[in-house]
Amino acid sequence: MSRVAIVGGGVSGLSAAYYLGRHGIPCTLIEREQRLGGIVRTERFGDCLVEAGPDSWLAEKAWMLDLVRELGLGDQVVGSNDNRRRTYIVRSGRPRALPESMRLLAPSKPWQAATSGLFGLASKARMAGEWFRRPRTLRERSVAEFVEDHFGREAVEYLAQPLLAGVYGSPPENLSADSVIPRFVEYERQYGSLLRGVWKNRERHREGPLFLTLRQGMGSLTDALQQHLPETCEVVADEVRAVQPSAAGWRVRAERGAWDASSVIVATPAPEAGRLLAGVDDALAEGLGSIVYTSSVVVALVYPQRGFGHPLDGFGLLIPRAERGTLAACTWTNSKFSGRAGPGKVLLRAFLAGADAERALESSDESVSGRADAELRQRMGFRPALEVSRAYRWPAAMPQYSVGHTARVSQIEERLVRFPGLHLAGNGYAGLGLPDCVRRSERIARAIASGEASLTTPAAGPP
Ligand SMILES: Cc1cc2nc3c(=O)[nH]c(=O)nc-3n(C[C@H](O)[C@H](O)[C@H](O)COP(=O)(O)OP(=O)(O)OC[C@H]3O[C@@H](n4cnc5c(N)ncnc54)[C@H](O)[C@@H]3O)c2cc1C
Repeated sequence: MSRVAIVGGGVSGLSAAYYLGRHGIPCTLIEREQRLGGIVRTERFGDCLVEAGPDSWLAEKAWMLDLVRELGLGDQVVGSNDNRRRTYIVRSGRPRALPESMRLLAPSKPWQAATSGLFGLASKARMAGEWFRRPRTLRERSVAEFVEDHFGREAVEYLAQPLLAGVYGSPPENLSADSVIPRFVEYERQYGSLLRGVWKNRERHREGPLFLTLRQGMGSLTDALQQHLPETCEVVADEVRAVQPSAAGWRVRAERGAWDASSVIVATPAPEAGRLLAGVDDALAEGLGSIVYTSSVVVALVYPQRGFGHPLDGFGLLIPRAERGTLAACTWTNSKFSGRAGPGKVLLRAFLAGADAERALESSDESVSGRADAELRQRMGFRPALEVSRAYRWPAAMPQYSVGHTARVSQIEERLVRFPGLHLAGNGYAGLGLPDCVRRSERIARAIASGEASLTTPAAGPP
């Protein structure tokens, strides 16, 4: 029977192996690290459960819950505490609450924008006028151009930039509106106004928590995937050096071994896929290399709750670039999910993105944690001394989806169809959230099972 080789054992590679197993297709999964899971990693220190990477998934991506239930984790699902769902954005040094009905870039109750302390009078007047825009189809623009066109510059600096920095790690000037906020581009086409689009679709935003997670952390998802791999799936710890065509279909050459397979799924970041495929096709390798990844650093900080002196009345704080901080965001874990911080503890998760993250990759844990502690202390005004902290570095982990991303992915796929049996999984193409990665892998497994040569990418959705 034909065997599939999978390069990379993050959530994409693991879910590909799992879904292949459901189709009865054997596979060899090759991961260079000793542990599987990639960016998904849960740790405990003391009584605290700390997410080094993703802490949840968007509940509206319903198929993720299907997988979680199939894996026997249905009773482990925990929703975010949406009664405390408030996000603060720092403006002139002070945290200001985002309107509660905010749906990423626009509120479903437009009058809440008018009363928000986040925007000045000129922006508010501009937002009121936005309601009357006529439907239009415009050329692909950056998120910054798109948001400025609708709501003005202030909304770019104090809304789009801080909201997207933590997810994509790059400024809105670099991100493609078509790839990153496709729903809003569709509202522009259909209604003209984003405010009217959100208002008209307010019923779509169903009841229930915005985020879902697992009681024992997101690491229990990748653990469960691993436990549910069929016996016909062989897991190998080795670093793959190249993927080449062979008589059997494909040959995967690693540092210590080589495997022949009828199909291969490269489930690594896109530039690494480009390096591995350099000998196969120059244009394909170049296209993959042109998808830029930025780094991210997560700092977990634990404080005593007694005398903390800050109410933690929300999911956290976003810090716009214009406020000249080092941190991009901080999640107040005690409020977002129950049962994460140990009894009597406050657990904060700070994020560094872009150039700040690149610098932090080279700094010691003490220095990164010390700077995060000092900045949060100043912005949130808490008093107790830091008890424990840890920094998690994710070099070149976040794909940028810059302007032209959809066209780049189409070009990659045009080359890919020349190489039957070669598939690209991972977060570089059509969505970087966990549900998008899982769905892409499920589709690839289905394509292999039904004998399709390769998978073409559906449009990216929100992260
Ligand atoms: C800090 C952070 C927070 C995030 N938060 C969220 C969140 O809350 N919710 C959400 O939905 N998404 C979140 N994301 C995004 C999401 O976590 C990732 O997109 C997803 O985990 C990517 O999984 P992957 O398997 O495609 O890639 P990875 O996890 O990067 O796995 C790729 C694997 O391939 C291996 N590999 C690479 N090259 C080779 C080689 N040559 N040979 C063998 N193995 C190789 C690597 O070691 C790695 O294990 C977050 C991302 C980051 C960085």
